[in-house]
Amino acid sequence: MIGTNRNDIIKPISDPEKIWDVIIVGGGATGLGAALDAASRGYRTLLLEQADFAKGTSSRSTKLVHGGVRYLAQGDIGLVREALHERGLLLKNAPHLVKNESFIIPNYEWWGGAFYTIGLTLYDLLAGKLGFGRAKHISKKEVINKLPTINQKGLYGGVVYHDGQFDDSRLAINLAQTSLEQGATILNYFRVVSLIKNDQQKIAGVIATDVETGQTYKLKGKTVINATGVFVDDLLQMDKPGKKPLVRPSQGVHLVLDRSFMPGEDALMIPKTEDGRVLFAVPWHDKLVVGTTDTPLDGHSLEPRALEEEIDFIIRTTEKYLTKAPTRKDVLSVFAGLRPLAAPESGSSKTKEISRSHKLLVSESGLITITGGKWTTYRRMGEDTIDKAIEIGNLTAKPSTTRNLPIHGSKLNVNRNDHLYVYGSDEYALLALINENAEWGKKLHPDMPYIQAEVIWGVRHEMARNVEDILARRVRALFLNARAAIAMAPIVAGLIAKELNKDAAWEKEQVEVFTRLANGYLLEPYQAK
Ligand SMILES: Cc1cc2nc3c(=O)[nH]c(=O)nc-3n(C[C@H](O)[C@H](O)[C@H](O)COP(=O)(O)OP(=O)(O)OC[C@H]3O[C@@H](n4cnc5c(N)ncnc54)[C@H](O)[C@@H]3O)c2cc1C
Repeated sequence: MIGTNRNDIIKPISDPEKIWDVIIVGGGATGLGAALDAASRGYRTLLLEQADFAKGTSSRSTKLVHGGVRYLAQGDIGLVREALHERGLLLKNAPHLVKNESFIIPNYEWWGGAFYTIGLTLYDLLAGKLGFGRAKHISKKEVINKLPTINQKGLYGGVVYHDGQFDDSRLAINLAQTSLEQGATILNYFRVVSLIKNDQQKIAGVIATDVETGQTYKLKGKTVINATGVFVDDLLQMDKPGKKPLVRPSQGVHLVLDRSFMPGEDALMIPKTEDGRVLFAVPWHDKLVVGTTDTPLDGHSLEPRALEEEIDFIIRTTEKYLTKAPTRKDVLSVFAGLRPLAAPESGSSKTKEISRSHKLLVSESGLITITGGKWTTYRRMGEDTIDKAIEIGNLTAKPSTTRNLPIHGSKLNVNRNDHLYVYGSDEYALLALINENAEWGKKLHPDMPYIQAEVIWGVRHEMARNVEDILARRVRALFLNARAAIAMAPIVAGLIAKELNKDAAWEKEQVEVFTRLANGYLLEPYQAK
C-alpha cells in the first residue's frame, strides 16, 4: 500500500528547483479529478488543499450519481447525456461506493404516470449502453408497498426509475489515494496564498503555507489550475485584483432523519415542490437524507449554515408526502453546501436557471480555472482541464486514461449490510488492525456502527489529521448523527493523539473545536451529560 505519511509526502515539495507540470489548487471533486487525470497521464502533479479533502461542497451533496432528471425537464440534453455516461463509468470504476438506487415519483395527478414515464424513458435512452434499468409506471398499491409511509390521500400511482447513489467524501479520499498511487503529490492542510508570475506576467507557480506548521513554500509549475469551488474568485483576485466575480454561490441544505420516517430500500423523488424545485428523500447509511434547497448567497464559507427558512421548507415539504411528519427534534443532522455555479452573463437572479454544466477558463496570465459542473461529472471535468493544461503549459500530449481506471478500493459485490463495505478491497487490511490491538475492534458509539480501527486506518492510510477529518469525512458520523459524533469525539481524539504523537492539550482542544463545529449541525445544542 502507498505511504500516506505527511512528512514523506512533503519531501518532494521542499526542493525549490523542482518544476511541476501541473499544480492544482483545491482538493474537492474537481481538483482531485484533475489530479488523477494528470498523474495517470504521467505528468508531475501536485495538489494542495487548504483544509481536508472534500471539506467544502464535495462532502455536502445529495449523494446522487445522476444525469439530473431536472435538467432534462429544462431541455439540457447534452448535459444529461454526458452526466449519464459518467454515471456509468463511475459505477464501473468505484463499484464499492456507487450503487444503483431506485427512485419513486408518486403521482397525485391522473396524468402524472404517463407524463413521467415518457420523460424518464428518454432519460434511460440517453444513458445508452451504460443504462441503470428502465423506468416504469407502477400502481398505487405498488407505491404503498415500496414506500409504506407515503401519503396515500389523492395518490394515483407512481413511476419508478433508476439512478446512482454514492458516498461523496469517501470517493474523494479514494481519489486522493488513487492519485498518490499514480505518482501525484497530494497534500491536505496546505493553503495557496499567492501566485508566482514570470517577467512576462505569466503564471509560473504558487506560494503555499503548510497550515499545520506555518512553513511557507515556493512551488514552481508550468501550469496552475484553480479548482477551488466557490472560492475560485479568491484566486482570480490574486491573479487580477478587481476582476468581476465568476461564481454565484447557491446554498443547498439537507436534513438527516431516522429511517423509520421512510423505511424500505427505495428513494422518493418529489418533482415539483412549492418553489418549483425537486426534493429527494434518499436512504443513506441507514438514515434518510432529505433535501435540497437552492438559496442564492452573496458570501462563501467552508462551514455554511442552514437558514431557518430552508429548514422549515424541507420539514413542510416532507410532512406533505410522508405519513410520519418530522419535527425539528427528529433532525439528527443538518448540513449545508454551496454550489459553485458559474454566474450567468446576463445577470439572471434565479440560481436554478444557471447552467450546471462546467466552465473552463484561461486568464491572460495562463491561470486555468475550472468551475461549475457536478460530482457526477468530476472525471470528465478533470480530463477537459488537463487537455487545456497540455495546451497552456506546452506539455507533451498524452491521452487521458481515467475512463477505465479503477479507483482505490474498487471491489464488486460488496456486502452493504456490513458498514465496512465502503472500504472495498481495503476492508480486510483494516480488520487486520484488530490483531495489533484487540481494543480497536470496539465500537465508538452504541448508536453507530463505527469501530476504533477505522480511526487508526484513517490516520495511517487516508491522511486524516484531526477529529473532524475522521468523524465528518472518513466515517460519516457528523452528517448522520451529530449528537453521537460529539459523544465519540473524546475517544477519537485519544486514538489520533497516540498515532500522531500529540499531547493532552491537543486532545482537549480537538474535542472542544469539534463539539463547537458539530453543534452547528444540530437544531438544538448538545449538552454533554
Ligand atoms: C447541496 C448540494 C447538493 C449537491 N448534490 C449533488 C449530487 O447529488 N450529485 C452530484 O453529482 N453533484 C451534486 N452537487 C454538486 C457537487 O457537490 C459539486 O459540483 C462539487 O462537489 C464541487 O466540487 P469542487 O471541487 O469544485 O468544490 P469544493 O468541494 O468546494 O472544493 C474546493 C476546495 O478548494 C479548497 N480551497 C479553496 N481555496 C484554497 C486555497 N487558497 N488553497 C488550497 N485550497 C483551497 C477548499 O478548501 C475546497 O476544499 C451538489 C452540490 C450542492 C451544493
